[in-house]
Amino acid sequence: MKNAAQPKLLSTRYEREVVSLGELSARLGSNPLLVQASNGNTSIKLDGILWIKASGKWLAHAMQEEMFVSVELASVKEAVQNNKEIAPHYDLRDEPRPSIETPMHAILRHRVVIHVHSVNAIAWAIRLDGPEQLKERLAGLRWQWIPYAGSGIPLAREIEKKVGRARETDVLVLGNHGLVICGHDCYSAEKLLRDVERRLAIAPRRFPRPDTSVLNTIARSSKWQFPDVDSLHALGTDPDSQKILKGGILYPCQAIFLGHTMPLWPPAAVISKFKERLIGKDTTPPFIAVERSGVMLNKKMTSAERATLIGLVQVTQRTERSARLRYLEKAEISDVLSKGAHGCKEGVVMEEKANPIAR
Ligand SMILES: [Zn+2]
Repeated sequence: MKNAAQPKLLSTRYEREVVSLGELSARLGSNPLLVQASNGNTSIKLDGILWIKASGKWLAHAMQEEMFVSVELASVKEAVQNNKEIAPHYDLRDEPRPSIETPMHAILRHRVVIHVHSVNAIAWAIRLDGPEQLKERLAGLRWQWIPYAGSGIPLAREIEKKVGRARETDVLVLGNHGLVICGHDCYSAEKLLRDVERRLAIAPRRFPRPDTSVLNTIARSSKWQFPDVDSLHALGTDPDSQKILKGGILYPCQAIFLGHTMPLWPPAAVISKFKERLIGKDTTPPFIAVERSGVMLNKKMTSAERATLIGLVQVTQRTERSARLRYLEKAEISDVLSKGAHGCKEGVVMEEKANPIAR
C-alpha cells in the first residue's frame, strides 16, 4: 500500500474538512467515556484518499500534533479483498503508520467514520444477549451487531459480510470491542454519535467507599500512590465488579494494557507479602486492587495503562452481576497481544517511557 501523503495537495475545501476531523477527534479524545489513551480512530475519505489517525496517537492531542496519515483507498480495499496485510511499507519505525483499523475505515462507504471505545457501548458489547438488548434501544437506526473479530483485516471482512447487504448501515456495535459511527461529514457523524450514546447510556453502579487502613500500608512505599480518580476504588470495594473481572478478559485493550489477570489481593496478603511482592523491580503490576479496601497505583504505571483502567472500571460499573458475558477466548487474547506488540502499544510505550503517569 502506498502512502499518498506526498503527491496530493489538499484543496482549501478538503483542508477545512481535515481540520474539522481534527477538531472532532480532539473532542472525542478528551472524553474518557468514549476514548482511552491511544484507542479510537477517525477518518475521512477525500477524492480517493483515506485520511486516518496514525497508530499510537492520542485523539485528544489532535489539535496539537500531526494526527492523520493518508493512504490510497483503492489499495486498502484491494488488500481487504485479497485478505492481505496492508502494512509492510510502514515497517520503518520513524514513519507514522495508519491505524490498525484502517481496513475497517476503508470498506465503510461513508465519508466520515468514527470508531470509539465508548464505555456504554462496550457494556452492551460484552453481553451474550447484547444484540437482543439493543433492538429496542437502537430501534429506528440503521445499525448492525458485528460479532467479535480481531482488529485489522479480520474485523473489516466481518463488517463487510454484514454490511455488504445493507450499505446504508451507519452504526456498528462491535462485539467485545466498541462502537463505529458513520456520516457524510463530521457534523452528522458527531450528531449521530450523540444520539447513539444517549440511547446506550447506563448509570454506573454505586460502590462502597474505600477503606484506607490497609491501603496505607502500601502507601508507605514511595513506589505506590493513591489514585486521583475515586471511581478506581470500585475494583477493590465492589464485589460485583470483581466477579465480572474474575471471569476473564472482556475486550482487547484490557489485555494489551492491563495484562491477563487482575491483581486482586485479600487484605491479609497485603500485610504479610507486600514487601516481597510489590516493591520488586519489573514484575510489579501497574495497579493493585485490595478486597473491601480499594485500589493503589504503581507510580510506574503509564498514562495509557491508567486511562485503560479508568475505562475498564466504567464498563464493569455499568454491567449487572447477573448479565451473561462473552469473554475473549485464549486464541483471541494471543492474537490481540501479538498485534499489540507491533500495533498501538509499541508506540505508546516508546512515547511514555520517559514520562510515567503523565496526565
Ligand atoms: Zn478499537
